[in-house]
Amino acid sequence: MIHHTHIICHYNEIGIKGGNRDYFEKMLVDNIKNKLDRDISNGFEHARPRTNSKIIKSSKINSRNSLDYKHSKVTANIGVGVKRISGRIIIRLTNKEQMKSKFELILKNIFGIANFSFAIESKQDIKILQEDCWNLIKNEKFKTFRVTTQRSEKNYPLTSQQVNEKVGDYICKKLEKDVRPVKFARSGAKQFNRVNLKNPDINCFIEIVDKQAFIYLEKIDGPGGMPVGTSGKALVLLSGGIDSPVAAYYMLKRGVRTDFIHFHSTSPASVGKVKELAKIINKFQLNSKIFIIPFTEIQKEIMAQTPPKLRVIFYRRVMLKIAEAIANKEKYLVLVTGEAVGQVASQTLENIAVIEDAVHPHTNLVNKSLLNKKTTTDKNNRIGVGVYIPVLRPLIGFDKEEIINKAKEIGTYETSILPHEDCCTRFIPKHPETRAKLTEVKEAEKNLNVEKLVKEAIKNYNSEKL
Ligand code: ATP
Ligand code: MG
Repeated sequence: MIHHTHIICHYNEIGIKGGNRDYFEKMLVDNIKNKLDRDISNGFEHARPRTNSKIIKSSKINSRNSLDYKHSKVTANIGVGVKRISGRIIIRLTNKEQMKSKFELILKNIFGIANFSFAIESKQDIKILQEDCWNLIKNEKFKTFRVTTQRSEKNYPLTSQQVNEKVGDYICKKLEKDVRPVKFARSGAKQFNRVNLKNPDINCFIEIVDKQAFIYLEKIDGPGGMPVGTSGKALVLLSGGIDSPVAAYYMLKRGVRTDFIHFHSTSPASVGKVKELAKIINKFQLNSKIFIIPFTEIQKEIMAQTPPKLRVIFYRRVMLKIAEAIANKEKYLVLVTGEAVGQVASQTLENIAVIEDAVHPHTNLVNKSLLNKKTTTDKNNRIGVGVYIPVLRPLIGFDKEEIINKAKEIGTYETSILPHEDCCTRFIPKHPETRAKLTEVKEAEKNLNVEKLVKEAIKNYNSEKL
């Protein structure tokens, strides 16, 4: 039985060159540590009870090649340490083979990880490396193999290719002596070339880093993307349907933290469902906030004051305005929706344009004074209150089928399809407008005191941490 001593995590370095690299790596270490801290401690008999688990705020790793493993209270307790070294992140395990599948599940959901491997610590001494590699693969079933060495310790006396050859030769010799070769060879073990560089049955990876050496046989795909938190934070309009949770997923994938805003009618069930969805999405980040905004009174007002065919347009316009107001106060950089072109009546290009006009007024029609709205910046010269907040639609070019498949993969689908009373399906007109005209909408909006509705809605808003 092989005891894995470490997990080696690799990330794609493209896009993180130069000044960003340090920030990227630190964030990834913190995300891994915090996730392990929370999820490993939760549900393992060896771990401390949940009440003792304290999520640590940030790591204090100072140098890129920091050698010390950083522990949080809980991970230290179960013998896990995380450190970054020479372009990889190394997780030290102490005899926790039984947790392998749990580790795998967690790491597969941490954005920024390109791939990871359960590894065994060996020594840089070539003789020990040869022996350890042989011990690692001798019980595997294979006809052909290769050795792939990566060497970030440039003072090491052998090149990567020399290590490949020395270990490869050693394994070949062992295979010749081994009692089993006959089983694999087609026509006599000795003529059979067991090394296949292009398409081997088994690949023995060796990594020589700092003063250590690690060996492993398998690279497991991570989710790719960027570490969550490296790209700012977004406010996602979360409806309870299939699309918006998937939209949140794609923002997280690019390193954007996501919090949520939900507009609800009378039904408390929709609120429970949306919180559940937000919690599922939290597996890609540590936690989130949700703003729940009562919408029934607003809908009644819209129904009373505007033509039925434009109702959905007005629901969406007011939602965007309320979300924008909260985003401004809470310093979110963007709003996110789950819209895709042509998916439903409200999502034609014409309607998307007319809906978005609520927060980004069309220049020909707008009151000129709005255009002079000043962009303000904070002390770090970042945009802040007063600037128009972009509305991003990560699913704009997706087919419904693709969205459904992704929703199933990330685990939101089953919850999304539970029946609930959406605030918009409840008061939906029979024939909604599919090609709204801005002039018409503006005219109809004169009967609606939008500013008052927005002010009322955000008067006592608060958020819940999930
Ligand atoms: P979804 O599956 O996300 O509900 P959808 O295809 O049903 O999307 P719509 O109902 O037209 O489309 O909603 C478009 C987008 O508007 C949603 O993806 C979501 O971002 C936002 N939205 C709709 N209803 C709500 C709501 N009650 N609260 C918050 N956001 C909403
Ligand atoms: Mg919907």
